[in-house]
Amino acid sequence: MGSAAAYHLAARGQRVLGLEKFTPAHDRGSSHGGSRIIRQSYFEDPAYVPLLLRAYELWEQLARDSGDEVYRLTGGLYVGPEDSLTVAGSIRASREWSLPHEILTAGEIKARFPNFAPSPHFVGLFEEQAGFARPERTVAAHLELAAKAGATLRYGEQVEDWSQTGDSVTVTTGHGTYSAGRLVICPGAWAPRLLADLGVEIAIERQVMYWLDPVVGTEKFERDPIYIAENDSGAQIYGFPAIDGSGGGVKTAFFRKGIRCTPDTIDREVHLDEITEMRSRVTELLPALAGRCLHAATCMYSNTADQHFVIATHPAHSAVTVACGFSGHGFKFVPVVGEILAELAMTGSTRHPIDLFAPQRLVSL
Ligand SMILES: Cc1cc2nc3c(=O)[nH]c(=O)nc-3n(C[C@H](O)[C@H](O)[C@H](O)COP(=O)(O)OP(=O)(O)OC[C@H]3O[C@@H](n4cnc5c(N)ncnc54)[C@H](O)[C@@H]3O)c2cc1C
Repeated sequence: MGSAAAYHLAARGQRVLGLEKFTPAHDRGSSHGGSRIIRQSYFEDPAYVPLLLRAYELWEQLARDSGDEVYRLTGGLYVGPEDSLTVAGSIRASREWSLPHEILTAGEIKARFPNFAPSPHFVGLFEEQAGFARPERTVAAHLELAAKAGATLRYGEQVEDWSQTGDSVTVTTGHGTYSAGRLVICPGAWAPRLLADLGVEIAIERQVMYWLDPVVGTEKFERDPIYIAENDSGAQIYGFPAIDGSGGGVKTAFFRKGIRCTPDTIDREVHLDEITEMRSRVTELLPALAGRCLHAATCMYSNTADQHFVIATHPAHSAVTVACGFSGHGFKFVPVVGEILAELAMTGSTRHPIDLFAPQRLVSL
């Protein structure tokens, strides 16, 4: 989110200083692991759809301007019982916004995508306008374009403190003190520390991504859609086609099944019982994913109480714009969040509908 904000501000002619405590596009936060689902039939809430439509325009623009494949459309399949959040919510959003989609029976899913073996009582919504973004390349592309537009980007520089006095802000790092007219804070899993005075509880959660070796060979998974699948208990998993060639495995993960942590206490090791549980769950839908786990990695969600984002001018500091609490589903919005943050920082308002993201809804009194 910070790299996109830096780019959109610099592209609008602003003098930008970007501060990052680690290296560019690192793997210590929430934006690594090679892929993130992008989709439009948004079961979380149809209110996200207009933002997604704009995000897709900006994804295309980012791919063009950077010359890199920052995203790819593969189609998306959302499977489960007809009344599940995944299926019913996706249908609701696609109908409300007239998004092209198809409803498939379990038999039709199996016939069209032979790797999938859904329970006979499951149905699926298929949409062509879904696929995946490459998180590290997306961050790198925004940083490169920001630098080209004149932004100064500093790495290995941790923000220790910030404050607003009058109309200007001061930021203190291990290297010095800076003052500016505006401050944009996108701290990911470090929000509880950097945005404590927002009064919003953000729960940091450890998540695991798994790359399994299909027993039928990787090539058979190269043309699959991305998917989200919900079972009868309401638990969701998701996954991708084979996008890293032979030996790269097929990535899958639980959606929203994590344990509380902090960026300092997160257990970065992935344990055998976790791999066994993932394999057992995903093979209910994709039986060929019964092979070895080639690789696994941890990552952090930053969850708000209602799982909606926080994007706003800081209620107590008019020169400060904040973006946090992306609750495990923020990446597909990165380019449009950059645009929103640039507009908010420069003018105090945005043309985009962001009422859902007001921090005041979550403030504990
Ligand atoms: C396993 C996993 C799977 C996901 N899957 C999807 C998906 O399929 N689709 C989707 O849309 N979303 C998905 N998400 C969510 C999405 O990836 C996140 O919402 C998004 O990456 C959050 O970006 P961010 O900029 O808030 O955090 P980050 O990318 O972590 O950025 C925060 C940055 O702030 C820096 N920072 C923090 N504190 C300081 C400081 N004091 N000084 C200087 N720098 C600091 C950090 O080093 C970091 O670089 C997933 C997340 C995870 C963990």
